Amino acid sequence: MSTEPIRLLNDIPDAPSLPMIYILGNSHSGSTLLGFLLASNPHLINLGEIKSKTWLKDRFCSCGHPVNTCPFYQNYFSTFNALKQAAFHKIRSRSLAPLLLAGKMKTDPDTKANLNQLYSAVSQHVIEHYPDARYWIDTSKSTWLLNAWLQVIPAKDIRIIWIKRCLHANVGSFVKRGSSFWSAVINIKINNLITSRFLKRNHVTYLEVNYDRFYDAYAEEAAAISAFLGIAVPSSYASLHNHHAISGNRMTRQSFTDQFSGLRKDDEWKNILTGYQQKILAWIS
Ligand SMILES: [Zn+2]
Repeated sequence: MSTEPIRLLNDIPDAPSLPMIYILGNSHSGSTLLGFLLASNPHLINLGEIKSKTWLKDRFCSCGHPVNTCPFYQNYFSTFNALKQAAFHKIRSRSLAPLLLAGKMKTDPDTKANLNQLYSAVSQHVIEHYPDARYWIDTSKSTWLLNAWLQVIPAKDIRIIWIKRCLHANVGSFVKRGSSFWSAVINIKINNLITSRFLKRNHVTYLEVNYDRFYDAYAEEAAAISAFLGIAVPSSYASLHNHHAISGNRMTRQSFTDQFSGLRKDDEWKNILTGYQQKILAWIS
């Protein structure tokens, strides 16, 4: 008889388990944008960053409504927040050292049960609103949350996409939002190390997507994503009212609430970083 811990998911009869797409990456690496681009397929439902503390302030949904009138959240928001608080409060602020050193962190049984309940509840809510949904999308980016999800979601029900962005553009985006140059570099380098070690040590299957190619070659990236997911992701964005993102990059969410005006060339960093900073990044890239 197996001595492996029993998956809590199996303990709940008929628990709905709509597969998830988890977007992994650094802060300011284009994860919010990718979540919306995936939702060009009507069967992929973008819910933004599930990890966000959405109970802390008034929220406006990417569908164009405040949460209290959004058809997806209006009667569900307090339940959603309570489930998230219960699932994440013990694991959100833990040191990431075990992820870096051991490649994984253990999750206690209560947290596992709460994570499982959150996953089932969100799946069920998505299915109620979108009966033909094939996946729901979590753009949380963090390895600690992927580590937790993988302990309650069967491998067949989670697809992981790691979005990468060139170091210059990623650091530029941090600096634009007030970070110091060196704290941005350290944040990105450490996060890349944690993520790559985690994926390797746990033999996780994932697809790497390159934000730097979105402007010139998004069709090729979309084709690779389509093959990975087994579902067609169009190479141009169409608004299909299948996104309810209340977290993630605010400007990006706003651009999809309004008429999305297309992908922009990712070269703003050239005006943000000094020549000296650009040289340093060229050395360490
Ligand atoms: Zn909404």
